[in-house]
Amino acid sequence: MDTIYAPATARGKAGLAVVLLSGPQAHVAVAAIAGRLPEVRHASLCKLTWQGQVLDVGLVLLFAAGASYTGEAMAELHLHGGIATVNSVLQALSQQPGLRMAEPGEYTRRALENGRLDLSQIEGLADLIDSETEAQRRQAMRVLSGAIGALSAWWRRDLIRAAALLEATIDFADEAVPVDVTPEVLGLLDALLVSLRHEADGARMAERIRDGFEVAIVGPPNVGKSSLLNALAGREAAITSEVAGTTRDVIEVRMVLEGLPVTLLDTAGLRETEDRVEEIGIGRALARAAAADLRVFLPDGEAAVPGIVALPDDIIVLAKSDIRTGSGLRVSSKTGEGLNELVAAIAERLLRRSGLAGTVTRERHRIAIATAIGALELARAEVVKGYSRVELAAEELRRAVRVLDSLVGRVDVESLLDEIFASFCIGK
Ligand code: GDP
Repeated sequence: MDTIYAPATARGKAGLAVVLLSGPQAHVAVAAIAGRLPEVRHASLCKLTWQGQVLDVGLVLLFAAGASYTGEAMAELHLHGGIATVNSVLQALSQQPGLRMAEPGEYTRRALENGRLDLSQIEGLADLIDSETEAQRRQAMRVLSGAIGALSAWWRRDLIRAAALLEATIDFADEAVPVDVTPEVLGLLDALLVSLRHEADGARMAERIRDGFEVAIVGPPNVGKSSLLNALAGREAAITSEVAGTTRDVIEVRMVLEGLPVTLLDTAGLRETEDRVEEIGIGRALARAAAADLRVFLPDGEAAVPGIVALPDDIIVLAKSDIRTGSGLRVSSKTGEGLNELVAAIAERLLRRSGLAGTVTRERHRIAIATAIGALELARAEVVKGYSRVELAAEELRRAVRVLDSLVGRVDVESLLDEIFASFCIGK
C-alpha cells in the first residue's frame, strides 16, 4: 500500500496550511523531516528540514493505525500557509521512498475501505463540504454522523428476521408446522413498509435542502417582477447574485431564507405572443414556474398570467402597493412596504415543508428505497397467498436487503447468508 500525501487546506495565502499523510510510511516520512518521531496524538512543534535546508517550523501530529480518519497510520503537518512553504514540504515528501501524492478523495476512499465510514457517510461528508446554508449543514451532519446507516441496520435486522421465519417454514414444509409465522411476518413487513414509505416521502424535501428550493415570481409584463426580485436580492444576502439564466426567459438569483437555500426565478416576459422564438422561451419559462416549489403571483388587475394556475400553497401579492389600491399582501419594491411579510410568507411555507425532510438525501437513496418498497409489497402479497408461496416471498425480502445494503455500500451476499443462517438456527 502506497503512503499518500496532499495538502488538506485550500491553496493560497493563509495563516496555516495542513498537509496530511496516510499509509505505512507516514510516520517514518515525517520523522525524516522532523528529525524525530513525536508521540502520537500530541501536537509537537518541530523544525522541518530536508537536505540541510530548513523548510518550516510547524506542528506535527501523528495518529496510529486503527485510530485515524483513514484507519491507517497518519500524520498532519501544520505549516505556515505560504504557497512556497507548502511546496517545499511536498517536494521533500515526494523524494522519499514509497510516497506519492494522493488522488482526489483518496483519504476518504481508504476510510471506506477500512470500514471507518460507510458510503452514505461519505456522501454526507461531501455535502457538508458543499454546504452553504444552515439547513444544509445540519442535514449533512446528520448523514455524516451515520443516521442512514443506523436506519438501514434497523431495516436489515427486521427484514432478515422475516426472511428467517419464512425460511423456517420452507424447511418444515413436510412436517406439521408448530406455529403459524404469518402474523409475525406480516407485522414486521407492515412496520417496515411504514418506515420506508415515510423515508420515501421525505427524500424529495431532503434533496431540496441539498440543492435548493425554487420559488418563481410570475405575472404579466411590467407588473414589477424584476424590481421585486432585485429588492429581495438586495435585502436578503444573495449567495451569488450572478444572473445565472443563460436565456432571457428565466433569471435566477440564489439567496438564503431562514437558513434554507432558495433560488428565486424571474419568469420574464410571460405574455401572449405571435413570435415563434419568443413562444418557445415562454413555454420554457412556464414549465419552470410550474415545476418550482412555490410561486409568487403578481396579478395585474384582470390581466391574468396565461398558461399557469396557482396551487393552494402559492402566494398572491399586490405589487407596486405605493401606487395601487387593493387588499391582501401588498408589496412595494420602491418603498419596501410588505417585503418582510413576503419573505416571512415564503420562508414559512418552505420551512414547513423542510420539516418533512427524511434521513435520506439523494436520488440514489430514493431509488433504493422505492425498489425495496416494491420488493416488500410483492413479498407481502406472496405471504398472504399462503405457504406454497413463501419461497418467493423470502426471495423478495433478500432482494430488499441487498438493495438497502447498497445505501451504506455493503453488498456482500456472503455476510447476508451468514446472518440469515445464524438467525435461522436461533429460531429453531
Ligand atoms: P416586470 O416586467 O414585471 O419585471 O416589471 P419591472 O420590475 O420591470 O417594473 C415595471 C415598471 O414598474 C418599472 O418602470 C418599475 O420602475 C416600476 N415599478 C416596479 N415596482 C414598482 C413599485 O413597487 N412601485 C412603483 N411605483 N413602481 C414600480
